[in-house]
Amino acid sequence: PIRSKEGASDGSNFEIGLPDTEKGVVTRFPPEPSGYLHVGHMKAALLNDYFAHKKYNGKMFLRFDDTNPTKEKQEYQDSIVKDLELMAIKPDAVTYTSDYFQLLHDKCKEMIQLGLAYADNTPQEQLRAERMERIESAHRNDSIEDSLAHFKEMELGSEEGTKWYIRAKIDMSSVNGRMRDPVIYRCNPEPHHRTGSTWKMYPTYDFACPIVDSEEGITHALRTTEYNDANEQYQWILKSLNMRKVHNWNFARMDFIKTFLSKRKLTKVVDTGKVWGWDDPRMPTVRGVRRRGMTVPALQEYIIKQGPSKNITLQDWNSFWATNKKYIDPTAARYTAVESTNKVVCNVTGAPEAPRTEEKDVHAKNAELGKKKVVFSKRIILDQADAQSFEDNEEITLMNWGNAIVKKKSYSLNPLQLLKSADQKTITELELELHLQGDVKKTAKKVTWLSEDQELIPLTMYEFDYLITKDKMEEEDSLESCLNPVTEIKTEALADCNVAGLKENDIVQFDRKGFYRIDKPFQHGQSVVAFQIPTGKNK
Ligand code: ATP
Ligand code: MG
Ligand code: MG
Repeated sequence: PIRSKEGASDGSNFEIGLPDTEKGVVTRFPPEPSGYLHVGHMKAALLNDYFAHKKYNGKMFLRFDDTNPTKEKQEYQDSIVKDLELMAIKPDAVTYTSDYFQLLHDKCKEMIQLGLAYADNTPQEQLRAERMERIESAHRNDSIEDSLAHFKEMELGSEEGTKWYIRAKIDMSSVNGRMRDPVIYRCNPEPHHRTGSTWKMYPTYDFACPIVDSEEGITHALRTTEYNDANEQYQWILKSLNMRKVHNWNFARMDFIKTFLSKRKLTKVVDTGKVWGWDDPRMPTVRGVRRRGMTVPALQEYIIKQGPSKNITLQDWNSFWATNKKYIDPTAARYTAVESTNKVVCNVTGAPEAPRTEEKDVHAKNAELGKKKVVFSKRIILDQADAQSFEDNEEITLMNWGNAIVKKKSYSLNPLQLLKSADQKTITELELELHLQGDVKKTAKKVTWLSEDQELIPLTMYEFDYLITKDKMEEEDSLESCLNPVTEIKTEALADCNVAGLKENDIVQFDRKGFYRIDKPFQHGQSVVAFQIPTGKNK
């Protein structure tokens, strides 16, 4: 039974009926350093942290599950440490499966000596077919001496050795496929990022995990429900080797629509240049969502709210971003930006002859955030779309100024315009007449505007779309066939003079355009770069 109190990250209370907690609780988060952490990993990390540190007075280890030299890198390892730190997850120790390579090697040998494992060289395809059809390998009943000889060759990484691998001898007739003689050790000639070329053979995850858990003193191994079937094998290995028992407890993976979390696929979009890197704002990595404008407390709250449920669900991104909006709305300073391509220049009659600058709060409901300069003058610019929507003599509202009446529209003389209907023609200039006694509550259009009598700051605004077009990618779908061809929309704009002072990572709102995270501040005359932050409404 799972009970949870809704609410803040520290207010949650989950009960999942873990056995033997009175004897102490030690959990672990075991990422493979083969990529950057994604939001799914954070669920695993936060749950392990929650049960070890918040629910019980226990410990949690960060264990690098580094058993496959082909995929692992120091860069990934370092990023994992930093990302956990960022999420305020403090492991009591950092350990490495690779520190146990000798132990694992010895345990594998012991299994062979006990007659509980054997060397095999059945080709991949055939192995798979035999496992499906529950057919025993031709080598299953080879002598212990034969298997040990092959094991020795594997250890040396000899040409002969690399053709062999070791399988646990469990039960080829089991209804549970994971019990049908799983592979526990195989050769890999590539150097390992920590142990170099000391080892030519490496344990599989299935073999290493129970042994290292038991050896390290882990009491409860929390894993995602894909491992349900693997629990039987996990327990069999510990029992066969007469090692200390560890409890398994499984929880649901977290997955999102139009998103892939497989590290193989994430690596591919990085390596092929489909995205700018692991921290690209379109990536579901911790760094990616942060760069898109997700805040740490919102990320913690969102994931902890999911709780340790076992039901697999496909999350949509709306509530993810809606959680974030609660945090950014009260603190995001408000500024103004006008699209610069096709901007409309206006002459405002009735405006002050000489430009006037006023100090205004950057946030109408949060005076603590400080002030900004607003310039009022006769020459202002507007967004083309706004100007096009105006009727002749319509009374409109210039936001934070007052009402004005639309007097005269001038259109571009570009000959191509002749082909367009009246409401599609580009407006180049507009005459407005201030009507400050007009009621701002009675106008249908409230528009943003900027005085040209200030240093307008060039701004490049980005909006992003999902990397794939399918809600849920199936195993058989190729990544290429699902990739969204256009995932980035770029708009050039001009922003008010205050925007020159924004720093990287600042989160702001451009009136009527949405929330943005500043990715690159204004410097050396180059445009400010801002990424739109979803708020859970449309996307
Ligand atoms: P790969 O994409 O290579 O299969 P992985 O998801 O297995 O990677 P690991 O580094 O092995 O990545 O994962 C570390 C831990 O995070 C594991 O305990 C795993 O169960 C958990 N985890 C991974 N993905 C998710 C997810 N989407 N939701 C919840 N937990 C996850
Ligand atoms: Mg894994
Ligand atoms: Mg996986």
